[in-house]
Amino acid sequence: MKFEAIAREAVHLDPNDNLARRSIPNEIRRDPLTGRTARICHFRDLIWKKPDLDQLVAGTESWCPFCPDKVFKVTPCFPEEIIPEGRMTLGEKVLFPNIAPYDRLSAVATLGDRHYIPMTEIEPGRIADGFRLAIKYFRHLEDMQHPESVYHLISWNYMPASGSSILHPHYQVFASAFAPNFLREKLEAAWDYAEKHGSNYWDDLVTAEKATAKRYLGKIGRTQWLTVFAPLGAVGDVTAVVPNISSTLQLTDQDLDDLALGLTKLMAAYDRMGIYNFNMSFFSGAVEDKHARFHLVFSPRIYFNPSIGTPDVAALGRLFGESVCMGFPEEINAKLKVEFE
Ligand SMILES: [Zn+2]
Repeated sequence: MKFEAIAREAVHLDPNDNLARRSIPNEIRRDPLTGRTARICHFRDLIWKKPDLDQLVAGTESWCPFCPDKVFKVTPCFPEEIIPEGRMTLGEKVLFPNIAPYDRLSAVATLGDRHYIPMTEIEPGRIADGFRLAIKYFRHLEDMQHPESVYHLISWNYMPASGSSILHPHYQVFASAFAPNFLREKLEAAWDYAEKHGSNYWDDLVTAEKATAKRYLGKIGRTQWLTVFAPLGAVGDVTAVVPNISSTLQLTDQDLDDLALGLTKLMAAYDRMGIYNFNMSFFSGAVEDKHARFHLVFSPRIYFNPSIGTPDVAALGRLFGESVCMGFPEEINAKLKVEFE
């Protein structure tokens, strides 16, 4: 396992110090699986000021399609050949077709009746039950042998900086025969790795990260939690790997509880940095993909300039696909690790 980091520096003459030479370090890191690079740069204190969230939320309930008075009236239904009842439910949680589908089987699942839940108040049981509802849908597609029932993916965009247009907590749920780019790249690279090394990349990654402990967070049940060496996110990414399984369909009930608990630990830790937006996605292979391992990625989101709503992805990230992380993942790990001890 090769964790390649190329340390570099930029020199400038500092106008605040009589034009003295000033050296600013940065680093280019290469993901050990895909070779994709990430920049560790733009260093700053990893603390942000939250806006008045009550003010942000105020009034959004009146037009929210996911609130209990509207969800069964304004959200679409599946056609009878997919789900005869139209929608699926689990307690107060409701799953229905995505009104802006990006594939044949795009769905949305609400996480219950509460319109806005502060990040640190989202209960593990609510998160796990949302997973259960999505998996109920996936199993239904699997039982009907739907041709798109190959990759079973759950994503969560929480709060506006994540790309979410609705504050009411909900998942994006879809099954597809077409893996999105990063999933496909990871699956192909893990296949190549298995061919070359005769072992599973993700198993080797967990072993290597546990050995150095620099980015290892801990274990919940059998789920293994790590900060990512070359992250996509501006404040690092965390991955949770579930050993021995490749697909979402193979997650046990206990795994769902453990993944949900781990996510709440990350939310608690990132909240202390003033962060209140995140993306989360499942990365699932097909059941028969022995080279794959089920893992999820949690990636906090920020505004580069909150006062004018500047997002944390600019041309470098959007057009070059190069990510910027504003702290060393090992330092971010230390801030998160307290939750796992
Ligand atoms: Zn709502």
